[in-house]
Amino acid sequence: MLGVYVHLPFCPYLCPYCDFAKWPLRESAARRYLEALYAEIARERCARAGTIYLGGGTPNAYDAETIAKLLARLKRRFSGAGEISIEVNPELVRDSDFTRYRAAGVTRVSIGVQSFEPSEIRTLGRKHTVPQIGNVVAQARAAKLQSLSLDLIFAVPGQTPASWRRTLAAAVALEPDHISAYGLTVEEGTPYAAWRAREPQAFFDDEREAELYALAIEQLQSAGYEQYEISNFARPGHRCAHNVNYWENGEYAGLGVGAASFRDGVRSVHTRSLERYVSASLAGGPIPCEAERLEGRKRAGEAIMLALRTAQGVSLPVFKERYGIDVMTDYAPIVARFAETGLLERIGDSVRLTRRGRFLANDVCGAFITFE
Ligand code: SF4
Repeated sequence: MLGVYVHLPFCPYLCPYCDFAKWPLRESAARRYLEALYAEIARERCARAGTIYLGGGTPNAYDAETIAKLLARLKRRFSGAGEISIEVNPELVRDSDFTRYRAAGVTRVSIGVQSFEPSEIRTLGRKHTVPQIGNVVAQARAAKLQSLSLDLIFAVPGQTPASWRRTLAAAVALEPDHISAYGLTVEEGTPYAAWRAREPQAFFDDEREAELYALAIEQLQSAGYEQYEISNFARPGHRCAHNVNYWENGEYAGLGVGAASFRDGVRSVHTRSLERYVSASLAGGPIPCEAERLEGRKRAGEAIMLALRTAQGVSLPVFKERYGIDVMTDYAPIVARFAETGLLERIGDSVRLTRRGRFLANDVCGAFITFE
């Protein structure tokens, strides 16, 4: 299955923890970017796609009519997508947006809620209010979109186990089909990194963050959400097919500035320079990018890393058949090390992360990727 990702990088304001490819919204730049995106789409060869995902940035910084036009162009190049997702910021949702999205083919909306605590929303630099979240969810339901997801963040400075519990309960009370819960990461070069350098005690250490992560797993599972990936929880039938394709090491085409693709065994990432992207695309391409062919041990390591993120983990027979590797033998020292420390376990024909391992997934995955 091919997944198509389209990056819409403009935001009405910039959040101090954000490390994505994003720029403050300016109308002329947003219009020019769209022209560049259309030019890139027009150069794509026609293909069947399983999913289309509009991510950002803030995709709904563009109006619904523009989103519909963009989707029409995408569907002319990439036919057959059964799941079409869009990320939205709650405070920008206008009355008829979701109805228009649905008419344009959108099946799934992911709402950037982050927290239901006003002080945490402010700390994250977000501009929406708690009542707005409820209104937006009601609008999405009224438009009868197939799947509704809420994004939450934990380990926010000032958060407590009690306030995180309240956020989880408020999210569950709105009955979304899907919830993503991400631990805050402080990326170098962001205002949050400067804040942490000045005031490290304001930020969570691993132990306190692990406590919040465990709370999320318990509270969401007991509300009927299956944890199908480290940070993602879904009601039956509502997993995000677009992201599942990434974790199954499927092919994806990334369009737009900073977007990543994996096709024909080659992983490539477009330039993160907005100006270089726009001028190259408007001049007829190619888009400057870094590309790397993933082969042999490298390809297998990547596939293991992705599979470990999922609840089912690494299927040993599938890896034998698809990559010609015996994970238990070829990666024996790593499997043994993390099994001993209680981060990995073997269940039947699969190797997967334990609950503690899910919190420390980056350490485990990193070891598989760098193993020679
Ligand atoms: S809205 Fe999203 S992409 Fe934009 S600055 Fe905030 S976190 Fe980053």
